[in-house]
Amino acid sequence: MAFDIDTIRAQFPIFQRPTPLGQPLTYLDSAATSQKPQVVIDALVDFYQHFNANIGRGSYWPASAATQAYEDARQQVAHFLRMPGTHAVVFTSGTTDAINKVARSFLLPRLRTGDEVVITEMEHHANLVPWQQLCLQAGAILRVVPLGTDGRLDMHTYSQWLGAKTRMVALTAVSNTLGLVNDVQTMTRMAHDRGIPVLVDAAQAVAHQIVDVGAIDCDFLVFSGHKMYGPTGIGVLCARKKLLDDMPPVAFGGGMVRHVTFGHTGFAPVPQRHEAGTPPIAGAIGLQAAIVFLEAIGMDAIHQYLSELTSYAMQQIEGLHGVTVLNRQAVGAPLFSFVIDGIHPHDIAGLLNESGIAVRAGHHCTQPLMEAMGVAATTRISFGVYNTTHDVDRLVVALQEAMDFFG
Ligand code: PLP
Repeated sequence: MAFDIDTIRAQFPIFQRPTPLGQPLTYLDSAATSQKPQVVIDALVDFYQHFNANIGRGSYWPASAATQAYEDARQQVAHFLRMPGTHAVVFTSGTTDAINKVARSFLLPRLRTGDEVVITEMEHHANLVPWQQLCLQAGAILRVVPLGTDGRLDMHTYSQWLGAKTRMVALTAVSNTLGLVNDVQTMTRMAHDRGIPVLVDAAQAVAHQIVDVGAIDCDFLVFSGHKMYGPTGIGVLCARKKLLDDMPPVAFGGGMVRHVTFGHTGFAPVPQRHEAGTPPIAGAIGLQAAIVFLEAIGMDAIHQYLSELTSYAMQQIEGLHGVTVLNRQAVGAPLFSFVIDGIHPHDIAGLLNESGIAVRAGHHCTQPLMEAMGVAATTRISFGVYNTTHDVDRLVVALQEAMDFFG
């Protein structure tokens, strides 16, 4: 399907009303969370209005309808990820929850003093702190692959650190701060050649590129629904079934058991064993609607449109005197960070807000990366399927005005 921006944008009700200051909204923070199309909002309302019930337990309608919808959503996610039969989908509350699950359930029982875990310098805190805390607990070492002088991951160091003591590699598919895209397929193969399991954080990838779990062949892949036009509170842990089968549950309660006595509990099979309690039913249904929405446009069409928009934005913003785009040569995703001589990113973001332009300023939950790059904060812009060159033009005008103001 051709990428018809007017038709697509019209499906997002948030753009139909002005900001409190009476401006049209230019939303440039989709990497934090995307806006929601009407079909996703409708799917949530439809569930709550027409077949709301808890799943798995009731033998009545609407419980059967809700259970079916929840399991259909799981199938839709598997299809979206081109998931092979070797893997399974566990629903979580988000990327962070999924990574913590893998850290505590998969790695912690395997981690010994002196073992090593490899991550990269560009990880979001969600894919750093859980591994760091595990390492501290077990007396293990966290190895961090730096960026090379070309602005990409230093693959030589990565290769060197895949050693006999490495118990896990955890890496992001796309940097949420720099827009750098990593070759997770090659990096997974390199780790597997040495028998090391790999987790891929696809939180910043799933909304704008095809993510093919079969091709990447990683052991764990995680993402959040809310960054890909779905609701908050739903996430995905797609993992190799035989690992999930062996992983002890880390949350206990209803829904994840087969038989319970006061002395013993038999756990349900995967995936239910890792989904204790009432799961995010509405979230899964909303996520399914988001996937249908994305696939109707086509991931290739989305990727091409956003790549062109990002190139246009970078060109325009770099044309402004005093602006430096960080790591520009390596940007491959619809987001990038920049700094402006003499103006703090928070001041920029505050002024842009007065013009109805939403950008993110700060460390973007990548404080160690900021430190490595020698900046305290950046301004980040990130695009969704509703953004246009008009949004970029508004931003450029407002940035120039902000620089004149602080000038
Ligand atoms: N990983 C990356 C690359 C992210 O960009 C984010 C959020 O910005 C996360 C993980 C955490 O996602 P969530 O807060 O939805 O769990």
